[in-house]
Amino acid sequence: MILDDLLQSIQQNIPYISRADLQLVSDAYQLASLAHSGQKRHSGEDYIQHPMAVAIKLAEMKADITTIIAGLLHDVPENTPITLEEIESTFGAEVANLVDGVTKLGILKYRGLERYTENLRKMFVAMAEDIRVIIIRFADRIHNLQTLEWQRPDKRRRIALESIEIYAAIAHRLGMWQIKGELEDLAFPYAYPKEYQWTISLAQNKLKIQEKYLEKIKRLTEKELLNQKIPYLDLSVRKKHLYSLYKKLVKKEGDLDKVYDIIALRIIVKNIPDCYRVLGLIHQLWTPLKGRVKDYIAQPKLNGYQSLHTTVFCEQGQIVEFQIRNQEMEEVSEFGIAAHWLYKETPQGKNKIQKDRLVWVKALKELKSSPGSHQDFLEQIKSDIIKNRILVFTPKGDVIDLPEGSTPIDFAYRVHSDLGNSCQGAVINDQLVSLDTPLKSGDVVSVLTNKNKKVPSSDWLQIVKTYQAKEKIRDALKKEQGNFVSRLLRPKK
Ligand code: MN
Repeated sequence: MILDDLLQSIQQNIPYISRADLQLVSDAYQLASLAHSGQKRHSGEDYIQHPMAVAIKLAEMKADITTIIAGLLHDVPENTPITLEEIESTFGAEVANLVDGVTKLGILKYRGLERYTENLRKMFVAMAEDIRVIIIRFADRIHNLQTLEWQRPDKRRRIALESIEIYAAIAHRLGMWQIKGELEDLAFPYAYPKEYQWTISLAQNKLKIQEKYLEKIKRLTEKELLNQKIPYLDLSVRKKHLYSLYKKLVKKEGDLDKVYDIIALRIIVKNIPDCYRVLGLIHQLWTPLKGRVKDYIAQPKLNGYQSLHTTVFCEQGQIVEFQIRNQEMEEVSEFGIAAHWLYKETPQGKNKIQKDRLVWVKALKELKSSPGSHQDFLEQIKSDIIKNRILVFTPKGDVIDLPEGSTPIDFAYRVHSDLGNSCQGAVINDQLVSLDTPLKSGDVVSVLTNKNKKVPSSDWLQIVKTYQAKEKIRDALKKEQGNFVSRLLRPKK
């Protein structure tokens, strides 16, 4: 890779780029090459190839020019004699802050749990400050995975696992499907080699046959769109990411015929009315499967994902999934929450939107002030933040945000500690239920209490899903034990 590759990629991906901006990119490249001169990657390549690959990836993600420049310089302060101050004096405070953010995240080296969770904490805090820091880390990690074969064998698996467990999980939370899929697929063969082979051997043939078949359906659809005079921007055959296919196969007990979206046809149109016109056209041509028409335009997913999905009995009775959306929805689905600031700078500033939208980013900022122990922190991230979340309602209509699998007890403690401690039963949607019933999004939950009950049951520790509830139950039990002991020790009159 040379500078021209990067400049070309920027011009292809970011329209209306100014000459001055391109000059800045060249300057950053010069500085980075100078700084890293003489350094080599494990592959034997010059080190500069790494920041170049990161910058090109960022351009492909349509990141802004500041992010791309920071990507070029991301390893400079840590690994070379050139300092952050020098970067700031040439490229300004914004670039310097991003580079500093990436540097402070450090390298996620596994040196025991303490160090590991500390790095995680840094990562989340940095994300809350400026999400672009994390996007640079994603691009960095993707190139490191692409060159993972050059790493020491004992390091490969750790890096690969970390990429799936932590990085991809964060990308998932941010709705960055493209990045999530790339991270997982690059890491998959190193993290789980046997499972990788199993998936490949199971799916390879079917994928080939399906691909041919879908090309045919694509041509049929194209013809029909022309006939009906519905303009479209893109029509493409999309393969499911391998790792997510693997996970689905596990769920379906290895039955490939039960996975309908191994390959799908994606149609990008100009506007929302055209989305529904295309859906109508497809349903006229082929019979939809019951219960598989999904209108995520009228009802977007929690992470903002929008699209129409339908699965139909296609030619020769084969089952095919169609995804229909406009360009903006496509960008949100590829880049998630980042799409909002990457493409549309608001007068309130770039980070305004994501900070307001992501409740859990806010929660993470609060964590900064009450660190707790490292083990607890890791647990909290795993149980409260990375897992999928559900939204349930109080009888008054307030929304409570909980991780999937939460119970009425989690709900009660989320509302108030006292409500949790005195909780005795629960009603979900007018039905009396047991306290270990998992809640679903949209449930209306009310808690039955007993005024005289002040202490939770220790069995609840096994039932609850949230860290918060566990902590509060433990606290209440500890306090009760303390009271009990002091009652015993109190001198009798
Ligand atoms: Mn790097």
